[in-house]
Amino acid sequence: MDNADQTGKPTRFQFASDNYAGICPEAWQSLDEANRGYASSYGDDPWTARACEKLRELFETDCEVFFVFNGTAANSLALAALCKSYHSIICHETAHVETDECGASEFFSNGTKVLLVPGKDGKIDLSAVEHTIKRRTDIHYPKPRALSITQSTELGTVYSVAELQAIGNFTKSYGLRLHMDGSRFANSVASLGVTPKEISWQAGVDVLCFGGTKNGMAVGEAVVFFNRDLAEEFDYRCKQAGQLVSKMRFLAAPWIGMLENGAWLRNAAHANTCARQLADGLGKIPGITLAHPCQANTVFVQMSPALATGLRSRGWHFYDFIGSGCARLMCSWETQSKDVETFINDVMELAQQ
Ligand SMILES: *Cc1c(COP(=O)(O)O)cnc(C)c1O
Repeated sequence: MDNADQTGKPTRFQFASDNYAGICPEAWQSLDEANRGYASSYGDDPWTARACEKLRELFETDCEVFFVFNGTAANSLALAALCKSYHSIICHETAHVETDECGASEFFSNGTKVLLVPGKDGKIDLSAVEHTIKRRTDIHYPKPRALSITQSTELGTVYSVAELQAIGNFTKSYGLRLHMDGSRFANSVASLGVTPKEISWQAGVDVLCFGGTKNGMAVGEAVVFFNRDLAEEFDYRCKQAGQLVSKMRFLAAPWIGMLENGAWLRNAAHANTCARQLADGLGKIPGITLAHPCQANTVFVQMSPALATGLRSRGWHFYDFIGSGCARLMCSWETQSKDVETFINDVMELAQQ
């Protein structure tokens, strides 16, 4: 079964990814508004200026903002800006930077090595990071220069404010720069009920890649430098990497609509609520185990291959998460509560067979 039935009508049975969802009305409306007549190109337009201003207001600080097409570009270009080619980047072994970006960080940094650390439920273990930094200090080892963390994590968990402060203190004490892959940053803000600054610059984050796509935009992520010195010549880096959009207003405008009326947080909170509902319902079914705490918009479920096959034959879409033996169920701004109920009922029925 595909993403649409034969009539082209989209099927509802979607827990594959938050990027299967469409464009939310607020982002769409901003695109429409930006589409009235001429505007200067390459970011020299009122929408881009306004979107940057809105992001500065959101973070309550004078940050430098750049808009790029996707998360891979945002992460790899940001990390390249933090490191020289002989440095290394430390991240969790399940980090998107490592597992899903085709070596882009190494490529755009001219070879900065990515070093992996383990950690429970997708969060880095600081003692493992410390070991990675300290095990070698000689000239033959790629010098650790950046720590990259993901908020919310690839396993659907969220670093608390205290955990982030500990990470920020740690990176400061070792002279590391702190990068945050925030492709689902909004979900973590909604989950923790904090202000964006508390889990970004106030905790020591130097650069945040703030996701728009998975939270209801067509395309686009904002690279937000809280440490402005690190943003020097980042515009050239974007241009060289093919990330300087000539009609920049269409990448920037959706941020205005999303931020102005709170859709960015509403969308994320809705996705989180659906995931919570899914986790609560599934958690009560015998034979179903939740593999990680559900703290954002993703639920990881251990289920038998027969059950997974049964669900798929009823039309449900979801992924087996890379090599983990778990099904990953992901909710988005577009997930319907009644679909969550239908899914839970299907699991109950199939689990009894
Ligand atoms: C989706 C995602 C990204 C961005 O991926 P792109 O496909 O390059 O836009 C980055 N980090 C995480 C954790 C993601 O899930």
